[in-house]
Amino acid sequence: MSRIVYVNGEYLPEEEATVSIFDRGFLMADGVYEVTSVIGGKLVDFDGHDARLTRSLKELDMARPLDRDALLDIHRALLAKNAIDNGLVYVQITRGNPGDRSFLFPDPETTPNTVVLFTQTMPELVDNPTAAAGIKVISLPDWRWHRRDIKTVQLLYPSMGKMAAKAAGAGDAWFVEDGKVTEGTSNNAYIVKGGRIITRELSHDILHGITRAAVLRYAAEAQMEVEERAFTIAEAQAADEAFVTSASTFVTPVIEIDGVALGAGTPGPVARRLREIYIEESLKAAI
Ligand code: PLP
Repeated sequence: MSRIVYVNGEYLPEEEATVSIFDRGFLMADGVYEVTSVIGGKLVDFDGHDARLTRSLKELDMARPLDRDALLDIHRALLAKNAIDNGLVYVQITRGNPGDRSFLFPDPETTPNTVVLFTQTMPELVDNPTAAAGIKVISLPDWRWHRRDIKTVQLLYPSMGKMAAKAAGAGDAWFVEDGKVTEGTSNNAYIVKGGRIITRELSHDILHGITRAAVLRYAAEAQMEVEERAFTIAEAQAADEAFVTSASTFVTPVIEIDGVALGAGTPGPVARRLREIYIEESLKAAI
């Protein structure tokens, strides 16, 4: 059965869904996106992702095409049409198709946004063997642009980072700028030392992870100590444990950084516990 996707107001089989070759998402990477996970057919932290979408659009002077309720309806329609139990819903919004190529933004009155939504099934979203085993990471210089707080579709450098990690036999790369870790290619990065969870503070340097916000809230509720500050690769290698968070991987332990095993070289207790709490609480709050 072919997947049903949403394009500019229509639900279509993926083979019939098209966008223009003049779409600014294609020509200029002029677009933003969101990814919301789905557990048991329900959306995890939809409102967090919706709020970040509004912010990303605003930061790029793009009008928001659909309000929260309309967007939620489309998410739910796609879950039903594609019978998604565990998986992801992507929303991609670009500055649209001005009908020609130009660096200047088109007039939004005459050029509506392009809006695309699609689903991906992920049977192993919750019971994930990668999360059970933990991942190795390598470090790479952070050569992305300096507004990483905006969730844009400019994913070439993160994609190159994932490829470099794969070539090195690792699961992901952590980006380093001015000697400090910013974040992973598609996740926020954490270390744990003496029971204290350390993760970089929010700024334009990193994406403000929706999973990060939830995990830090749950950690505080569980009386775990949290410190928001940057750390070096050397400090991470000397940590008791490390982990990453994202909507598609929840909490995933890191067991090795640049060839140095952390602690016992197996997923640490804090990361494992936070993953359990995150899944438990997300299930309760999913809509
Ligand atoms: N940082 C980057 C660069 C990301 O691409 C992502 C997710 O895609 C995250 C962090 C984690 O954000 P979230 O928890 O909202 O998925």
